[in-house]
Amino acid sequence: MENPCRSLDAARALMMHAAGFVLAVSLTGCQPAAVARAEAADDEPGWRWSDERVEATVNAVRAGRDLQPDAWPGGARVAVLLSFDVDNETVTGLRFGDATVGSLSQGQYGARVALPRVLDLLDEKGVPASFFTPAVSFRLNPHQIDLIQAAGHHEIGVHGWIHELNSSLEADEERALLERAVSYLTEATGVRPLGYRAPSWNFSPNTLDIIREMGFLYDSSLMADDRPYEINQNGVPTGMIELPVEWIMDDAPVLNPRGSGYTNPREVLQVWKDEFDVAYAEGTMFLHTMHPHYIGHRSRIVVLEELIDYIQGHEGVWFATHLQAAQYVKDQAGL
Ligand SMILES: [Zn+2]
Repeated sequence: MENPCRSLDAARALMMHAAGFVLAVSLTGCQPAAVARAEAADDEPGWRWSDERVEATVNAVRAGRDLQPDAWPGGARVAVLLSFDVDNETVTGLRFGDATVGSLSQGQYGARVALPRVLDLLDEKGVPASFFTPAVSFRLNPHQIDLIQAAGHHEIGVHGWIHELNSSLEADEERALLERAVSYLTEATGVRPLGYRAPSWNFSPNTLDIIREMGFLYDSSLMADDRPYEINQNGVPTGMIELPVEWIMDDAPVLNPRGSGYTNPREVLQVWKDEFDVAYAEGTMFLHTMHPHYIGHRSRIVVLEELIDYIQGHEGVWFATHLQAAQYVKDQAGL
């Protein structure tokens, strides 16, 4: 028996500290409390920083202009963006070089059983979604590509090469892995991905430069709002659209039966309904991240079905892919 999150300490050991950045690592598929601070010997606590250093640190990558449109297409009051991070074996073992057979089999379930189940449900409800995929996940289980593309309205975005901890990498390695992933996904799916989701739900000091240079339309990894926003870099608007995520709206921390944050799926459903209710009342966006190898199990898929039914019971809801939402807010904002 192997704890799938056992490599956390190894990951922390990889943490690097760059001037002005305290990198936090969030391990999708592991506990959200996995936030580590670099403890470099020459680091100084924030109370000894100059005002200039504090400002430069937060301004490196920060939420800028609110891009929430007055209304979504068709006059809808809320956009519902469902995403599935198709991690499978990459996150249950491979990314940290873990060859544990049991963990890998748990990941394979995602491709073998869970993803088909998720797609059947989306078909039944007529709902489009975005699938953020580490390239290796498709390489190992290529049938997933046809399954996702069969409906004709789902989006495939990129989620790293092998779910590498991008926030801990040097720029050259991070860029090379992402270019390799995009190249593979473009070839395998016939479409170049325009959406990026960082495998660690975090940026290195170089991530924003890399995804800007590679021409991504949007990112979906950061957490500064419930609404879409433009990312500023050192105080300057970049034109990069952020469709923000949140650990509250992620199934991995709460539905991992061996995780410290495990919560009864029925209770989790109530949290997600409450999140939707306030998104609906405020007229904004409901962006929900799930993982086939968690949400696709039998006792979880019924919760997702109930959530979709609940949302579809409301007027003025626009179900869309992340790409459709990003393109819409880009047009509305004149970016
Ligand atoms: Zn992931």
